[in-house]
Amino acid sequence: MSTPNSLPPSPTGRDAIVYGGSMAGLITAGVLSRHFERVTLVERDTFEQGARSRKGVPQAQHVHALLTRGMNILEGTFPGFREELKAAGSQFLDMSGDHAWYMAGLWRSRSSSGINMYAQSRSLLEATVRKCLMARPNVRVLDGREVTGYKASADHSRITGIQLRAPGGGQEETLEGELVVDTSGRGSRTPQWLEALGYPRVEETRIHVDVGYASRLYRRPAGFEPGWRALTIAPDLPRTKRFGTVVPIEDNQWLVSIGGWLGDYPSADEASFLEFARGLSQPHIHEALRNAEPLGPVTLYRFSHNQRRHYERMPRFPEGLVLAGDAFCSFNPIYGQGMTTGGLQAETLGECLRQGLGGLAQRYRQRVGQLLEVPWLLATSGDLRFPEVEGKRPPAFGLMNWYGDKFQQLAGYDDKALRLFVRMMHMLESPAAMFSPSIALKVLTSSPSPDVLSRRPEALAAQRIHGA
Ligand SMILES: Cc1cc2nc3c(=O)[nH]c(=O)nc-3n(C[C@H](O)[C@H](O)[C@H](O)COP(=O)(O)OP(=O)(O)OC[C@H]3O[C@@H](n4cnc5c(N)ncnc54)[C@H](O)[C@@H]3O)c2cc1C
Repeated sequence: MSTPNSLPPSPTGRDAIVYGGSMAGLITAGVLSRHFERVTLVERDTFEQGARSRKGVPQAQHVHALLTRGMNILEGTFPGFREELKAAGSQFLDMSGDHAWYMAGLWRSRSSSGINMYAQSRSLLEATVRKCLMARPNVRVLDGREVTGYKASADHSRITGIQLRAPGGGQEETLEGELVVDTSGRGSRTPQWLEALGYPRVEETRIHVDVGYASRLYRRPAGFEPGWRALTIAPDLPRTKRFGTVVPIEDNQWLVSIGGWLGDYPSADEASFLEFARGLSQPHIHEALRNAEPLGPVTLYRFSHNQRRHYERMPRFPEGLVLAGDAFCSFNPIYGQGMTTGGLQAETLGECLRQGLGGLAQRYRQRVGQLLEVPWLLATSGDLRFPEVEGKRPPAFGLMNWYGDKFQQLAGYDDKALRLFVRMMHMLESPAAMFSPSIALKVLTSSPSPDVLSRRPEALAAQRIHGA
């Protein structure tokens, strides 16, 4: 469990307000609790349900991978978080050793990557972060309250607080603070509220992908020993559009998510779900589901577009306000970067606060503008491989894709490339590392043998057991 309160002897400020109590808001409030005498977290939903999904976070029913970089931020913000999550039922997996993974046209080798993943439902993850946050004595949570606008100084150069009320009506209240953080997700209304205060409309880049997820919980079948604990079938972009993943979560359950790009996803009925699983490029998910007992209905999520709001480009922006998480930038979820990028923004806010509150909003939005470049490029350059997806392709796009495909294939059978690939995916290594001379030489000179191309996860699991 996190330390009770690590507030420094002279905090940066008195009152901070964070609104939107999902992953970005919880981590941000945790970071701010070390800089402010008091932090108030405001959330529209009520938190009574514990680790159950709630209206404001419909995506919680779908597989959520917490990247290692994100886990490191959580552990740094709430010391003891890993143990807390494990005790709550999270499953601990080696990203390649325990995970059968079909990508770039082959099943990856199963040697240990040294990168571990904590697998659990998104609701359990969020409830555990919330528990750690609420243990901080200088944090209070106001749930069941919707933020309806900002309070500003007379000249509108500073945001000084928020207006809030119970969803659907009721008495309006005002809350004042030296810093307001918007973590209200992709539907954030900061663009409109700033415009009403006389600021220009923030520029926005959208890349439409029409991605759909369909997910269902199953009881992990007793006696079914497939030689993997998690399984992923990734598409071979842009030739195939469909993906599927089976992840073990708390309470002996599997969470299964399948879906695809550009309208290629199933509907919510069982037959469509199973038929789609059967149509994946490999049969293993469909085979696993035939042995498993469903524990609920199929749920759907449609994600229309990547959305980046360029707050860093605004010629004028008020002090006293910052944004983090999906409110700033929301990516195609398939790349699993959203929660970790929200955590990186919270971490950046903490760093900016070390220089005090003066000029904070300006410093922070510039730093986040830069920070978002890499995750945005990673997500959108995958999406832009589909000719149907509209958007500006970066220079040498074809050449980069050719190299990236070769590198991904190498990571299927070369242990050093596999470890690097997993570290890059978990945001522990810059993508530039795949151009290091030793990796580049292998990328350019080697290709998979027929044995590698024909291997199957069952055989790879046996190899792992014998080699262990
Ligand atoms: C299908 C799917 C799968 C995903 N998989 C992954 C994954 O594998 N890994 C990963 O890292 N990310 C994943 N993501 C992305 C991830 O869910 C988000 O990036 C993450 O939740 C960050 O969200 P956030 O806290 O910024 O906003 P959200 O999670 O959208 O939360 C916003 C919060 O603000 C509250 N709120 C909204 N308006 C108001 C208001 N006016 N007043 C008060 N409260 C308000 C809402 O109730 C909600 O609690 C996935 C997303 C989807 C859709």
